[in-house]
Amino acid sequence: MKQSRKLPKRKCRWCGAEFEKLRPLQIVCSSACAISLNKRKREAANKKAQAEAKRRERAVIKARRHALETKPQLTKRAQAAFNAFIRLRDKHQSCISCGNPLPDTPNGYDAGHYRSVGSAPNLRFNENNCHGQCKRCNNYLSGNHVNYRLRLAERIGLEAVEKLESDNKPLHYTKDDLRQIERLYKEKRRELL
Ligand SMILES: [Zn+2]
Ligand SMILES: [Zn+2]
Repeated sequence: MKQSRKLPKRKCRWCGAEFEKLRPLQIVCSSACAISLNKRKREAANKKAQAEAKRRERAVIKARRHALETKPQLTKRAQAAFNAFIRLRDKHQSCISCGNPLPDTPNGYDAGHYRSVGSAPNLRFNENNCHGQCKRCNNYLSGNHVNYRLRLAERIGLEAVEKLESDNKPLHYTKDDLRQIERLYKEKRRELL
C-alpha cells in the first residue's frame, strides 16, 4: 500500500499561490511574501495611528475653540439660525401685524418676536412667539403690537397667545444648549428647503 503524506493546501495570503502548509500558523508561501505582508500590515497600522492622532488633535482644537466661544456669541448665532428658520417658515404668510403680503425676498422681512427678546428672553426661541413681520412693522411701528396680537390669535389661537403672555418661567441656556439650538434650527430650515 502506498503511503501518501498529505499536507493541507493553502492559498498564500500575499501572492495567492497555493502552497503546502508546513507550519501550523503559516499563511504565506515564502519568506518574501511574509516580508511583503508584514510591511503592508505595518503600513496599515501606521495609517490607523496617524488617523487616530489627527482625530485627537481635531478634538483638542474643537475643545479650545469651544472654550473661547462666549455665551453672547453663541446666543447670537442660535438666534440667527432660529430667525432664519422662522422667516422661511412664514415665507408665504402675510405680515403678522399689518397683514400685508411679505416681500418675496429672503431678507425682505424680519422674524419679529411677539414678546420681545429683551422683555421675555425665555421666549426668544419659542416658535409661537416669533413670526414673519414686515420691516415697517418691526422697525418703525415697534412691532405694531396691538395688531400683532389680533393676527397672532387668529394664527395660533387665543389660548396659545395667553400662554405666551403669562410665561415668565426663566430659562437658562448652557453653551452646549445654545450650540444645539443653532444646529436644530439650521436642520429644521434645511428640511423646509
Ligand atoms: Zn506567496
Ligand atoms: Zn407689517
